[in-house]
Amino acid sequence: MSRGESGLGDQKAEVLAALTRLTAMLLVPVAFCGAPGRARFLACQWALGLRFPAEDLRGLAPETLAAFTHARAEAFWRHGQLIGLTSGYRDPAEQRRIFAEEVRRTGSVAAARRRVLPPEESGHVRGLALDVRPAQGARWLEQHGGRYGLYRVYDNEWWHFEYRTAAPVRLPHPGAAPYARDTPCCLASGHARADRGGRALHGRGRT
Ligand SMILES: [Zn+2]
Repeated sequence: MSRGESGLGDQKAEVLAALTRLTAMLLVPVAFCGAPGRARFLACQWALGLRFPAEDLRGLAPETLAAFTHARAEAFWRHGQLIGLTSGYRDPAEQRRIFAEEVRRTGSVAAARRRVLPPEESGHVRGLALDVRPAQGARWLEQHGGRYGLYRVYDNEWWHFEYRTAAPVRLPHPGAAPYARDTPCCLASGHARADRGGRALHGRGRT
């Protein structure tokens, strides 16, 4: 993508963000009628659902879902940042397919594991991992997500976050997982390292 195209994309994203903020403000009174104490929270989720219509929050572990929705409500109302979900829960069969594809593409299991993990190791399959967008929103989450138990866990995946009960040591890539698998905090909380990441998928701005 050229710089010019990128600039146009940024402009479009900013216009959509402004419209989303306006929509949320208009929806607050509607939400207030049904749930006075949660009006801003609900209006934010509705507006983000309209902005990111392809996102699917189903299948996330309850603690992951609560952390994500509350974190993005704060990002939205306090700092005007929009955070959308590109990929959350994946069933084991889907993760196995993505992993097999990556093995074929890269030619080896070791190479594939730099970007994708098999189902038994994936945080997406456990409902604990979130791939988010846009990059600006991910930066916000990297900075503030810890308050909600959401952490970036890989150097090579700015979009991938996981719910943890303690801050993890960030790994270079998913394939570095054997190191983290022995980390007490992760064993205690039952969380696995995750991900696929998939440059191709993320390059298309989806998943
Ligand atoms: Zn991921």
